[in-house]
Formats: sequence, structure tokens, C-alpha cells
Amino acid sequence: MSLEKADALVIRQVDFSESSRVVTFFSREFGKFAALAKGAKRLKGPFDAALDLLSACRVVFIKKSSGTLNLLTEARLIRRFQPQNSGAKGGLTSLYGGYYVAELLSGLTEDFDPAPEVYDLAVSTLSALSSPENLSLPIIIHFEISLLQLIGLLPNLFECSVCGEAVQTGKQFAHWVSQGGVLCGACRRQEFAGVSISSGSIEILRRLTQESADTVCHIEFTKKQAQECHQLAVSAITHALGRRPSTLRYIQI
Ligand SMILES: [Zn+2]
Repeated sequence: MSLEKADALVIRQVDFSESSRVVTFFSREFGKFAALAKGAKRLKGPFDAALDLLSACRVVFIKKSSGTLNLLTEARLIRRFQPQNSGAKGGLTSLYGGYYVAELLSGLTEDFDPAPEVYDLAVSTLSALSSPENLSLPIIIHFEISLLQLIGLLPNLFECSVCGEAVQTGKQFAHWVSQGGVLCGACRRQEFAGVSISSGSIEILRRLTQESADTVCHIEFTKKQAQECHQLAVSAITHALGRRPSTLRYIQI
């Protein structure tokens, strides 16, 4: 048992009792963890508005030995992200984009596995989604690809997984989901069941990994390229999660 401090995003909340909730955080210092927030459901509770979904807060908690719920003792709001405020351009897609960020952090990371660069990516993504000037779709696709890269699940986008032929302009490839790679036309087989992706879209995916959430809006996509990039990311994410992310049904690409 130890008293710990962390900067954390609220990614999930579940009612625990009449007055308490179990809150799941994704923190810079510890990665994901859940803690019991006693009194969090009371109107004038001890944590005020710091525990709203997608809020960033400074928390103090008692870390229990495994098998017992951690106990939240303090939560102070750092910033409340409001993706829904991005107006006509992003609209609801920004809001659901924020929920999607939370769902992927919850599903694709392990408890107490620190990943400060994943925390920073999530914060910059929520921040970019909250800005009225930004289009939400490139930011969402950038998050998918960057998260896959940081957790080591981004497919190899440089060469065919079978013959090693480099990805060249003007050619058609397929995403080989189970092997985490792409296949050239000659190596593609029915049983690998890959979704087609053009070399142009693969090029964009590679560029996305070099960008940050607030610069990604300058990359120009065609609608088809956006769909192909998103499709590749979703296939890899679905494979890792074992199910399709539920928030996706609200996001139109
Ligand atoms: Zn090949």
C-alpha cells in the first residue's frame, strides 16, 4: 500500500454504490489504473467536477496490493476537454472521437504499464479535437496509427511481408492483419483475407507517424485515402481487441 500522485485522464466511469464510482484513469506516471472514488456521485462531492469523462486531472490515490481496489483521495481538475465545441466542422464526430480515444486507451493498454508517450498522444489528440479550427477525421486517424505504433502493433508499411518487395508508388497492396504487414499483388492469396490498400494510402500512413495531432490537419487526403487508412487501422485494432471498437459506429469516415 502506498500513496501515489499522477496526472491522469478520466477514460471510464462505472457506478459502484449509491454515492461512489469506480473511475478508470490513464495516467502519465502509471499508465491505466482504476480507483474507487467515494462520494463521487454526490452533488457536492469531494472531487467536484474533476472526474468528468475526458477530463485531465491531478490525482492522489492509495495504491493497494493486487486484487484490491485502489482508493482515490484527491482529484484536482487540470483541463476539461470539450471536443463537442469544435462547431460545424467537427461537430459530433469530435465528441465521439474523444470517446474513441478513451475506449482504445482502456482496451489496448494494461494496468500499471507506464507509457508517458501514449498519455501525451492522448492529451494532444483531445486538445486538437477541442479546437474549432480543426477537422476531426485526420486527427482521429492520426491517433489510431500513432497509438498502434507506440504499442508495437503498427503493420510494417515498408515492404511486402512475404517477398520483401518495397512498397512502390502506383501499386496496390493488401493489409495482412494477422501477420501485421502488407502484401504485394503477387503474394496476395485469398486465404490471407486482406483488405486492399493503395501505395498512396500507405505513403500517407507513413507520413502520419511523423506528425503530431496539431499538425496533422495540413496533410491532404482524398476521401478514398482516408477510408483506406482508417480501415487498415481499424482492422489492426479489432484484431488486437478481439472485437470492433463500439464507439466506431458513431464515427463516419
Ligand atoms: Zn510480395
